[in-house]
Amino acid sequence: MNRRIFFVNLMSLVGLAAVSSWSSNVLAERKRGGAAPTAGAGETPLVDPKSAPAKAVGYAENKSDVKDASLKVERQGVAFDKQNCKTCGFYSNPKNQGGGEVGNCQIFSGQVVKSGAWCSSWNKKA
Ligand code: SF4
Repeated sequence: MNRRIFFVNLMSLVGLAAVSSWSSNVLAERKRGGAAPTAGAGETPLVDPKSAPAKAVGYAENKSDVKDASLKVERQGVAFDKQNCKTCGFYSNPKNQGGGEVGNCQIFSGQVVKSGAWCSSWNKKA
């Protein structure tokens, strides 16, 4: 494994740990009756791209917002242009919300992501 791949894998693990910790805190806050991120009535909150967990994995609602060229790489044989939440193995339960498709993501518990969004933890669907 070369240094670059090792570093990318290491950063993904750090990002996942941050997301996991943050998600646990959000769920604990909700159980205490705290405020959930804003969403329309009956809607599941969208991941906030400006939140620390989203930033940790480079989450972008629009792939054009991904500026770091080192992230725009082929993963598991899939070109960057073909990578988005809808083609990610962590995406499930798609539904319409707010005029577009959203779905659950395994790394953002209790929230939804836009089908056309992307993050550096993208993983090819099996
Ligand atoms: Fe990242 Fe995949 Fe989750 Fe989208 S579904 S935020 S690409 S891990």
